[in-house]
Amino acid sequence: MKLPEIDTAYLLDFLVRLLNTPSPTGLAEPAIALVEKELAAFPFLQLTRTRKGALVAKWQGQKNDAPRALTAHVDTLGAMVKEIKSNGRLKLTKIGGFAWNTVEGEGCWVFAADGRKVRGSLLLDKASAHVHGAAVNETKREDDNMEIRLDARTASAAETEGLGIRVGDFVAFDPRVEVTEEFVRSRHLDDKACVAALVAAIKTMTEAAQSPARSVYFLFSNYEEVGHGASAGIPPEVQELVAVDMAAVGAGQASDEFHVTLCLKDSGGPYHHGLSNRLREIAGKNGIEYRTDIYPYYGSDGEAFWRAGGDVAVALIGPGVDASHNYERTHTEALIATVQWVMAYLLG
Ligand SMILES: [Zn+2]
Repeated sequence: MKLPEIDTAYLLDFLVRLLNTPSPTGLAEPAIALVEKELAAFPFLQLTRTRKGALVAKWQGQKNDAPRALTAHVDTLGAMVKEIKSNGRLKLTKIGGFAWNTVEGEGCWVFAADGRKVRGSLLLDKASAHVHGAAVNETKREDDNMEIRLDARTASAAETEGLGIRVGDFVAFDPRVEVTEEFVRSRHLDDKACVAALVAAIKTMTEAAQSPARSVYFLFSNYEEVGHGASAGIPPEVQELVAVDMAAVGAGQASDEFHVTLCLKDSGGPYHHGLSNRLREIAGKNGIEYRTDIYPYYGSDGEAFWRAGGDVAVALIGPGVDASHNYERTHTEALIATVQWVMAYLLG
């Protein structure tokens, strides 16, 4: 069977909308709500929220035994206010694993607990070249010397508190999304690229009047970047789980921005050999070009479920993303290949 044609314009449009929806881990609800609204267009999907706040979509298949699951996460890297400094600026604590230099100079939103939002940017506390000279270059970026400069008239802790800001408020860094020459450049393609791929697979199959061979659960998880996204939310009857998450691109890696990768091992060890091999077979039958790779510093929601006791086969696929957990980039070809592999898996 030939795979249905993917609506690339839709895939990119939804991806851009999702990327522009701030969703740091812990405050990912707006992205969950966006996916939920998008999937509400498909009335045959059974949508539920877990108590933890993730979204589960069940799609009844032609067979109901041995159901499958796919997961991708909507939460992203971000930060929280750790301290309101005496000069009114904010010290932060990171959410997820990234280096401060990757967001230095970036615009951001501070989400005050009372619902107000304040704009700002992340800077080194010795930011001015004319004041600090060589220190601007030589200072090691650490929690203690990075700060948010708020776009508000504040020079004291009291004035910043007057804006509604408190310790523990969430901070989201601007994704700076740009689609150019079929490249998508943005923060947080990890893992919004794969969330968009799953939604596009559902839409494409539906429009082609196709349905999955076996019942499938899609888990849109909301705590992956801190290591326990899919540890809950996969129903116990599920037999296999395909985590859909970005592939790590860089020196020594087999992955690239134009292909989908099957990850065979990461920091959590090898994935399930049988399921990985079946995915290879499916790709081969459907003419999907893919890479195989090993990621040196990486964990997935598939492993989160394994660690939580999930008794399933787990495999990991996803599009190559350059400069991950930094200012990321991928190409439309990799996104399309990911959607194709997901559809081929569902139909097989
Ligand atoms: Zn990820």
